[in-house]
Amino acid sequence: MRAKERALLAVERLKAVYPAISELDHKTPFQMLVATILSAQTTDRSVNAVTPVLFARYPDAAALAHADPRAVEALIKPTGFFRTKAKTIIAASAALVERFHGEVPPRMEDLVTLPGVGRKTANVVLGVAFGIPGFAVDTHVTRLTRRLGLTRSTDPVKIEAEVTKLIPPPEWTGFSLRLILHGRRVCVARAPRCPECVLNDFCPSSTVRPGRRRGPLTPTGTRVRLTHARGRAAKRSGRIRARR
Ligand code: SF4
Repeated sequence: MRAKERALLAVERLKAVYPAISELDHKTPFQMLVATILSAQTTDRSVNAVTPVLFARYPDAAALAHADPRAVEALIKPTGFFRTKAKTIIAASAALVERFHGEVPPRMEDLVTLPGVGRKTANVVLGVAFGIPGFAVDTHVTRLTRRLGLTRSTDPVKIEAEVTKLIPPPEWTGFSLRLILHGRRVCVARAPRCPECVLNDFCPSSTVRPGRRRGPLTPTGTRVRLTHARGRAAKRSGRIRARR
């Protein structure tokens, strides 16, 4: 099976299992932008725990642009790296006020000029807040697209370029969001649960396909394999360990 066929099959299979949603709570493009910046190096749950109070106090870019950094730091502290994140969301808000009339621009080339916004964040905002196709590549998407044999790259920009050639634009946002959900729930980093995966009959890294010899790729690019002594039992349960 070619990469394009695998990609299209994965799109359809994941569509049947997961909704195309972000787990970050938001009501406006501005809130989605801020929540996505805050989600770096932490869980969506910890972001969702702080944003209701943050957005109640600073509902838009104009309000957050003039916020006291110390007050913002105190509100977002549970998300980690709170000093840097407070500085970033205040600076991004100021840039929105100065250059975009306080509104989040719906264009990649504008979004990536904002402080703290790279292609990943921009694609999330485009896809989720504006319904404009965007394939966001985070750690889960990187791991899964490599395991599925859709790319060999570890560079998010190259992964985005390669995967978006395989599937039509209307599927970009949903595929990225569903890969993230699948990566959190089934194709987890250390021990992917291949026996319960809906992609296991065609995924090149599946441990449950007949005649399989090699294990899936770890996030660092090494192969994982079934332990030698307990291979069959481990295969049945999905327990695998990294090759050293
Ligand atoms: S079959 Fe295994 S390695 Fe492939 S996507 Fe599913 S869980 Fe991940």
